[in-house]
Amino acid sequence: MNIQESANSLEKIVALCKRRGFVYQSAEIYGGLNGVYDFGHLGSLIKSNLRQTWIESLQNPYGCVVMFEGALLGPEAVWKASGHVDHFSDPMVDCLNCKRRFRADDPDIAKGCPACGKKDSWTPVRQFNMMFKTEVGAAADGSSIAYLRPETAQSIFINFKNVLSTTRVKIPFGIAQIGKAFRNEITPKQFLFRMREFEQMEMEWFCKGEMALEYFEFWCAHRLNFYRMIGINMNNIRQRPHEKDELAHYSTCCTDVEYKFPFGWKEMEGIAHRGAFDLTQHSTHSGKDLSVFDEETKTSYIPTVVECSVGTDRTFLMVLFDAYDEDVVEGETRVVLRLAPRIAPIKAAILPLTKKQTEAAMCLYADIKKLGYQIEFDESGSIGKRYRRQDEIGTPVCFTYDFDSDNDGSVTARDRDTTKQERIGIDQVPAYIKKMLEK
Ligand code: ATP
Repeated sequence: MNIQESANSLEKIVALCKRRGFVYQSAEIYGGLNGVYDFGHLGSLIKSNLRQTWIESLQNPYGCVVMFEGALLGPEAVWKASGHVDHFSDPMVDCLNCKRRFRADDPDIAKGCPACGKKDSWTPVRQFNMMFKTEVGAAADGSSIAYLRPETAQSIFINFKNVLSTTRVKIPFGIAQIGKAFRNEITPKQFLFRMREFEQMEMEWFCKGEMALEYFEFWCAHRLNFYRMIGINMNNIRQRPHEKDELAHYSTCCTDVEYKFPFGWKEMEGIAHRGAFDLTQHSTHSGKDLSVFDEETKTSYIPTVVECSVGTDRTFLMVLFDAYDEDVVEGETRVVLRLAPRIAPIKAAILPLTKKQTEAAMCLYADIKKLGYQIEFDESGSIGKRYRRQDEIGTPVCFTYDFDSDNDGSVTARDRDTTKQERIGIDQVPAYIKKMLEK
């Protein structure tokens, strides 16, 4: 795919998201805020399905994974200890002509300024810290400095002892968190790929140092299940172990899960062997003992951490790219999102063929809704138009209540991907949906 095609396909995804209310530019009526987005009904439903699947994907044979939800604001001391105040920066250059800023490692800038086109007109490279700094409370002294978290992990590390002493977990175990992170990215781009406010799903796995490499390998293999569960074509997924010079100084090994976007292979998730760095740092800086006692050896040690960290919004974008398709049905081009049923925002649509069937179809709708499924009822427009509407939001099946339904107690189940129709008993509809979601 060339650059033009890649831009076209991104444009199509953005247009679909806007048209169907998956995603909106944040503060759009005020001109928007760059790198910040809001999610509408269908977008929120997809995200919630992704979160649920991610939690399920953490099931493993070795230990519990408990949930956690930390604060978004953290005092400066946390970010000093974690190294973010001193090191969480990207190299930046300014265009001397138009004054716009870019990442110095962005390959596009070699050709000239992406904004004004001027060549070789850059300031020297300098480091730009990506954390959002703020002050908490009314006192404007150093003690009030706080930062919006640039990753969710640190709140897990600083609560490690709280979790250990209040849950019945034993090493090895994991602490998982889904929540917002904030990075003042120099150049947010590619829609949801690089945002300034985004969501992460992170799991920190605490284990003994001598077992960490084995667990690291286990998690690298195990994490691929998540991508299978959300229905990604596995030919578009690969793992890329980091080269030695890419590793943080405390990390022994790290592997990225990458997805083949039209704009290249890109990181979706980082799986990292972080050693005992994080807990050691927080132990030293806070003066609190974060070691655990080993009953077997009767000694204390600081656990080693294996981290799995994936962005929810980036996953959302990947899911849309992977599912987006256009084909010709009955001489008309349709947009179809071939989403895995468990990720689809709407699981089924109930459609009366004509207004005469509205009442009976409404009863079926109410019965299915009671079971807790997200479903839609649609009676406006031709049946073909209604199918297309559901196709482009990824609804896996439409049940059409037609002229024969009253007599034969059946509806037509129309499959999104094949457009094939089959007749099924009305009493079979719940089982049909259940089976579809188990796939
Ligand atoms: P990148 O190299 O793309 O900036 P990173 O290596 O800095 O990513 P991590 O700090 O490892 O990313 O964060 C873990 C995950 O969080 C990433 O794999 C990605 O899915 C997500 N993520 C990170 N930064 C952003 C962002 N600005 N917008 C959306 N998602 C992000």
